Amino acid sequence: MKISTKKLRSRIRKVILESELHVFDFDETLGTTPATTNVVAVRYLGGDPQDFENSYEPVTNISGMHDNVALEPEYHRFLSGGKFLDPKEKGVYYPIAGAEMIALDTDQYKIWKNDIAGRSKYVNAGDGVYDGIAMEADGTEPGTLIYVRDFSPSFKLGKVKPIKSTVDIAKSKKATGERIGVVTARAGESELPSITGTKFKAQNKDDIYDFGKEQGLDFDFVHGAADTDPRDPSNAKRDLIGMEFSISNADELHFYDDDPQNIRKVQQLCKRPALDGKDITTYQADFHKGQVPSVTHCTVNELRQVIRKALLNSRRVK
Ligand SMILES: [Mg+2]
Repeated sequence: MKISTKKLRSRIRKVILESELHVFDFDETLGTTPATTNVVAVRYLGGDPQDFENSYEPVTNISGMHDNVALEPEYHRFLSGGKFLDPKEKGVYYPIAGAEMIALDTDQYKIWKNDIAGRSKYVNAGDGVYDGIAMEADGTEPGTLIYVRDFSPSFKLGKVKPIKSTVDIAKSKKATGERIGVVTARAGESELPSITGTKFKAQNKDDIYDFGKEQGLDFDFVHGAADTDPRDPSNAKRDLIGMEFSISNADELHFYDDDPQNIRKVQQLCKRPALDGKDITTYQADFHKGQVPSVTHCTVNELRQVIRKALLNSRRVK
């Protein structure tokens, strides 16, 4: 492969002057919080999906249903603590009324989302929840379960326990002039509907800026992915990170998240032509448990990778 001296010089200059963008997930990455996600399920019995009186039943034993799934012991402990939704509760109608509701903490929700909900039908709590259930039920076998997720308890951060390892990384990067930001799956500032019909205005964006200040961190940006796409926040997360990366002057993206699904999504940015010539490194670990992260790396342009390696080697020789 031939390359002009001028082009080579400009490439090398770019590698030397490169700046970095460090993006952090929030929950279980920068801090742990008491947030829970409420989950109930209804069973489709067959018949007209719009007939809520006769075509469904509430699932009353959701806490005892997942014995065949390999879950961490703490998950089982938690599942046993479900409660039944009171049918008299305002805004709750059959078949959600009468269903057992479980509240999952962030760790448990991650397992539930990746191992159970990923293979099931689900809808989010909110105004269109009954229409959503009918749409999911349409064309499925009798007996199909449809889960209803309620993120409203996570409308605010609550009391946060900071995770020192990642907070320290953010601090040192900021100190050397790099950009740092947070992209959480949570709603940042939009309204969060609950199963019982009450709506909560999310305040996570402000809470995360405040958390940053308490930790001596001045975040360059904070995004709540559920504001953009409440049904699939991990897609929105990837797109928000890609957007921040392409509008920044940074040549390197470093992304930290405890959830492997989010890591896989962000790795998809390695194939974005718009990011050609840039580096993406991801770090996945249960940071709150002190785990050492597993690291992946890609360069969206091979020539740059060759120059980088050559530079690193020449430095090493000296
Ligand atoms: Mg997380």
